[in-house]
Amino acid sequence: MPTLESIGDPRGRVDTDFKRRMHGETSATGLTRGMDCVAFTGIDDLNSSSQNPTHQNSVHRNSVHQNSVHQNSVHRNSVHRNRRRRSSDSAVASSLTIAAHVAGTLLLVTATSLVAGIRLNGSLWCVILLAAAMVHWAIARFASGRTFASLILPIRLHETLNTIPDGLMLIDDQDRIVMANDAFLKSIEMRQRDVVGRTAKSLPWECSKSSSQHEMPWTHALRSQKPQGEQMMRFRTPGGNTRFFSINSSPLDTDQDGCQGAMVTLRDVTQIESRRSEVEQMMLMLRSSRDHISSRNRELQVMADEDPLTGCFNRRAFFDRLKPIWEESIQHDSSLACLMIDVDHFKQVNDMFGHQVGDEVLRTIARVLCDHFGPPAIIGRYGGEEFCVLIPQVDMQQGTTISNQVLAQVQAAQFDSQAGLSLSVSIGVSVRTKGLHQPEDLIRQADECLYLAKQNGRNCVVGRTDFLRIKEQQALLA
Ligand code: GH3
Ligand code: MG
Ligand code: MG
Repeated sequence: MPTLESIGDPRGRVDTDFKRRMHGETSATGLTRGMDCVAFTGIDDLNSSSQNPTHQNSVHRNSVHQNSVHQNSVHRNSVHRNRRRRSSDSAVASSLTIAAHVAGTLLLVTATSLVAGIRLNGSLWCVILLAAAMVHWAIARFASGRTFASLILPIRLHETLNTIPDGLMLIDDQDRIVMANDAFLKSIEMRQRDVVGRTAKSLPWECSKSSSQHEMPWTHALRSQKPQGEQMMRFRTPGGNTRFFSINSSPLDTDQDGCQGAMVTLRDVTQIESRRSEVEQMMLMLRSSRDHISSRNRELQVMADEDPLTGCFNRRAFFDRLKPIWEESIQHDSSLACLMIDVDHFKQVNDMFGHQVGDEVLRTIARVLCDHFGPPAIIGRYGGEEFCVLIPQVDMQQGTTISNQVLAQVQAAQFDSQAGLSLSVSIGVSVRTKGLHQPEDLIRQADECLYLAKQNGRNCVVGRTDFLRIKEQQALLA
């Protein structure tokens, strides 16, 4: 039994041998020329070939022969011969049909007039002949339009095409559907008589996103006379369901007069498409929850690194960042300053105004520090009312100057919860020197300087150089 593949490759051009056979011998009605051949000639050949093994062999040989058709001039001549013969056969068939109609009409009229005893004169004959011609014309037109198109397709062709699991449509050069197989009709929930004679374009198609062309694929195949492959189209069935089709269109028999029709295969990929859409939805959900998780992770990371009261780095996060900054300073042999800042007599603030005011004071001092130091400096809350600031590329002199600016800013700060409150800080400053091997040494030296600043009466800055000088003096005094 012939299959779609034996008729033609749905993704490529229709098998040349098949087309040649389709345009061979018979044809007698008013269907458009190309589809006449599909309806009658090719199928007769197909039917006989399915019953005749010798013929099958010859078809196979012909098919093999077609592989070299473009190079083979002998074959081209044979195609031309077939076309000439087809055209003359068609003319003979049409003339015979018309003659048969006219003869039949004459016979009928003569018999009727004899039985009824009516005498026919010349003008009555003219009217009768004219009426017969019009009836003939009307029948031919009706057949080429819709209703007869389905009837005239041989039953064996229908049966053959209905065995194909994919959907299939045959359309003529005017985009009219000549037949649609059962698989396609089942998918679109329509009947043969709903579609035959209609233009394929008039069916309720919806172009899918993936379809780049606005033109219908088969229309493009008809116009360009080239096969069109794997184009996705959406179809809205009368029942309101959406079906997805992967469509291949092959032009049928192209010659100098153009294309005479097209074979359209429609693979129903609705299930695949709905799975793909489900997977897409799932991917979207996964992506969105992954983004949500990442954003929550970032928030958690911030929360984990941040001191909740002041927004500065907490002690752990500060030390996490200390090491890389220290190593970078060694690598680039650049300076690195450390400021240890402690609020003076802070305990008294708590005692006099309460812990809430104390918290407000800590927040305000943290804001002063954040406003003063931007990246790459990092600010950590080192202890209760103690802050530590690391400032890359700042030496002792710069560090001392900056510290004095901070001192002044804290003194000028206003505290919303306690108007008129004035506070001060003491600051110890250290810088990375060759003698220091660990980042903790830098912190320790700044802390020692801070301690000395407290001893010196608070609200002052003590740098490592001052520290060494003071210590030397103290030693001398001792
Ligand atoms: P000094 O000038 O020598 O630094 O004296 P001080 O009072 O500032 O230092 P001390 O170490 O005696 O007191 C620090 C106080 O800071 C004790 C503690 O209750 C308070 N404190 C620590 N953390 C917080 C906090 O988060 N909020 C509040 N309100 N107080 C805090
Ligand atoms: Mg203090
Ligand atoms: Mg302290």
